Amino acid sequence: MRIVLMGPPGAGKGTQAKRLVDKFGMAHLSSGDIFRAEKAGGSALGQKLAEYMDAGQLVPDQIVVEIMAKAITSCDSPAGLLLDGFPRTVAQAEALDAQLDQAGKSLDGVVVITADEDEIVERITGRRSCPDCGKVYHVKYLRPQNDNLCDKCNVQLVQRADDTEEVIRQRLAAYNRQTEPVIAYYRGRPNVQTLFVNGTQPPDNVTADLVRGLEQLKTEM
Ligand code: ADP
Ligand code: AMP
Repeated sequence: MRIVLMGPPGAGKGTQAKRLVDKFGMAHLSSGDIFRAEKAGGSALGQKLAEYMDAGQLVPDQIVVEIMAKAITSCDSPAGLLLDGFPRTVAQAEALDAQLDQAGKSLDGVVVITADEDEIVERITGRRSCPDCGKVYHVKYLRPQNDNLCDKCNVQLVQRADDTEEVIRQRLAAYNRQTEPVIAYYRGRPNVQTLFVNGTQPPDNVTADLVRGLEQLKTEM
């Protein structure tokens, strides 16, 4: 299965992607994680990415497409691919289509996790993650077993630089203006299934809905 996972920032894409990968075994590619790793490495490219990320703006398409095309080429496996956070503009979706077409491959589905704005702000301001394994927690909803320590790695959890209320508002505006049209783009495609899942439920219920939807999609492929 080749799936694009969409939804506003904080909808639960990263949290659910890890669970879906455990269940279905496909590779997980998160553009945000790839960009944060580049940023942490301090390269010139990382510094360029940081200019946009820290301001809550989308990174320009040309840069995104170049990075993601390489990542997809090296990662697409027979078990499939789960793209999380990419594509985020119609131009990126077109570039992805062209890349897959050229390789004789195609997308099977687009899954949109929905969430409302107030919930998103609470989720993102409470998000903490492990700097080693990337596992994501929430100070109230998905707490680690020991205060502020990763359950697996036992290291101090950190807060993302762009998880402030001011930057979240910018990211939401970018989502509404630039990313929502991508859903309409895919809905017009005859061979791509679009599935909407209510992200405003406890995490296990969201996972159950996603698993049910993807299992159904698999039978129809
Ligand atoms: P995204 O990848 O879409 O930006 P995350 O998966 O990082 O979102 O989730 C954002 C925050 O919300 C994290 O702190 C996560 O622990 C928390 N979270 C994720 N799903 C739920 C849920 N269903 N209910 C409550 N909190 C959630
Ligand atoms: P995320 O981890 O998905 O919340 O992404 C964090 C930030 O990385 C976003 O706010 C953007 O600045 C940048 N980013 C991630 N993916 C993309 C993308 N596909 N297109 C443009 N910018 C992106």
